[in-house]
Amino acid sequence: MISVVIPLYDEEAIVPELVRRVDAVLRTVDDAYEIVLVNDGSRDGTAAAVRALFATYPALVLVELSRNFGHQIAATAGLDRARGDAVVLMDGDLQDPPELIPELLAQWHDGFDVVYAVRRTRRGESRFKVWTAALFYRLTTRLTNVSIPVDVGDFRLMSRRVVAALSGMRERHRFLRGLVSWVGFRQTGVSYDRDVRFAGSSKYPLRRMLRFALDGITAFSEVPLRVATYLGFLIAAFAFCYGLVVLVLNGLGYNLPGYTSTMLAILLLGGVQLVTIGILGEYVGRIYDEIKARPLYLIARVDRASAEVPGDV
Ligand code: UDP
Ligand code: MG
Repeated sequence: MISVVIPLYDEEAIVPELVRRVDAVLRTVDDAYEIVLVNDGSRDGTAAAVRALFATYPALVLVELSRNFGHQIAATAGLDRARGDAVVLMDGDLQDPPELIPELLAQWHDGFDVVYAVRRTRRGESRFKVWTAALFYRLTTRLTNVSIPVDVGDFRLMSRRVVAALSGMRERHRFLRGLVSWVGFRQTGVSYDRDVRFAGSSKYPLRRMLRFALDGITAFSEVPLRVATYLGFLIAAFAFCYGLVVLVLNGLGYNLPGYTSTMLAILLLGGVQLVTIGILGEYVGRIYDEIKARPLYLIARVDRASAEVPGDV
């Protein structure tokens, strides 16, 4: 079975066309399918628009959240409810063409666990959006400790075991594409041209994009925390050297009375403080890591030389 998961926030104008196109594509595929639409607390008639289609499209599933939780959480809610052996996650504004799904499925049949869609071009988006997105992708790949592919959004296919792994990770500041990279297994990409939004406007204003970028970087990188440590040691070392200089100058009789002791106190305390803040940062980083409670590892497969091992259960 194939599931397609689509989070929707105020997309009433798009729903009929979206469902029509997704269903048309899935009907050409051999497997059974469901279309899981998540209504992320829309203020317009998105839910009613979906319900109106129930009679025509038996594959529809509508998950309604109690309020607006944001794109990443809405997507997670859909993934948790999806029952497919392969689950495709895509945006509801038809910027991600459903017609790419057969290609994603083909790679899945070839044994890949994650098939992400790589944006070759982005049509109809402001230069500002394209530019900030490019910067964001480069920055996250640079800073984070998982390898997140560049120019890849959330449009992707995931196998059952990847979705199960994601369901096990309940961290609140979710950065799904980072989590999917973290999961591992065999991953590959398929290129596509990103379309213009079918109707309505982007639900990601600059403020949300910034928060999203911060979530991505802080969830997968200790670099910002580590900066305090590096800076602390650097400045402490400098303070130590300069302290020696002050002492020597004092010996040579160049300093005004009181200057030497004041300078030494400032330099020493400043250095010690910065290093201690850095040490605190290291521990905060570890607490943060533990609190995310990600699984320690995921096993791709276990092979046995013989079918039955004595004493094994
Ligand atoms: N979305 C959502 N909840 C939100 C914001 C957005 O479910 O709080 C959905 C939205 O309906 C769309 C997808 O997430 O299906 C991507 O949003 P959008 O197209 O506005 O983002 P952009 O393509 O501009 O980055
Ligand atoms: Mg969009």
